[in-house]
Amino acid sequence: MIATVTDPPFTTGLSRWACILPDHISPTAAKAYLGCSLRFYFERVACIRKATPVALHLGKAVHAALQAFHLARWRGTDDSPEAIATAFDKAFTDLERDEGPVNFDDDAEREKCRADGLRVVAAYLDSPEAMKEKPRAVEVLLKEDIPGLSVPLTGAMDLVEGSFTPVDFKSAAAKPDPGNAAFDHEIQLVSYQLLLEAATGESPPSLDLVFVVKTKTPQVIRVSSPPADAHRKHRVIALLETAVEGIVSNRYNPQPGMQCSWCQYKNECMAWLPSQRQERRVA
Ligand code: SF4
Repeated sequence: MIATVTDPPFTTGLSRWACILPDHISPTAAKAYLGCSLRFYFERVACIRKATPVALHLGKAVHAALQAFHLARWRGTDDSPEAIATAFDKAFTDLERDEGPVNFDDDAEREKCRADGLRVVAAYLDSPEAMKEKPRAVEVLLKEDIPGLSVPLTGAMDLVEGSFTPVDFKSAAAKPDPGNAAFDHEIQLVSYQLLLEAATGESPPSLDLVFVVKTKTPQVIRVSSPPADAHRKHRVIALLETAVEGIVSNRYNPQPGMQCSWCQYKNECMAWLPSQRQERRVA
């Protein structure tokens, strides 16, 4: 006897993107896909909205404040600590309105988060890392064809220094280990190098991350890594293409690991089964 197993309670199904090349790939999307393709599906294909985690909300507001500072340096406008604190507060409330709700337990947690953000931003402005000169570019969005990639590569660099060094800013709860930090962000850093080289013909002298760390006394730590050689570029292009192929093939499956501890899609993940209608023989 043949028994037909009916559709599972949740499947990734055939998304509207299935079998269609995405029109670009970004290092952020590729890293998300390679980290857990099913979570990528929930977030970016099914677009299942969840309350914003507090740490993510704080990181975005800090990022907006640093962007305001770098833009002010670039334009020669007001880059005083007061102006940047105002930019932080505006981003904090605008993000709640536009991307919220945020997972705050109560008003006290919200106020602590806001105060932490202001401390971290002030620490950056006080640090030797705060840009003194005019940057070459701020929030640079590039889209380039890269040999070996079947779709264009896109990336948004936080800052490009005068020397053509791309800099990306990260908020962190603990001091980063430099070796691990560079390895963790390899796809992003090397993608920026590929984009800069394709767009300008210039090779950056280094690929930099600046961490603003939300410890009791906030710290600002720069992690520099050397520009990628041919092997590293080839490896990153292969990783980006692996993500493109997975998306085109509609390949979304659970990839259990450490990231599950902070994943907001555990219920949907537990309900997942492969989408193909299955048949099995029952004796
Ligand atoms: S719980 Fe883990 S395996 Fe499931 S979607 Fe989230 S990150 Fe992926």
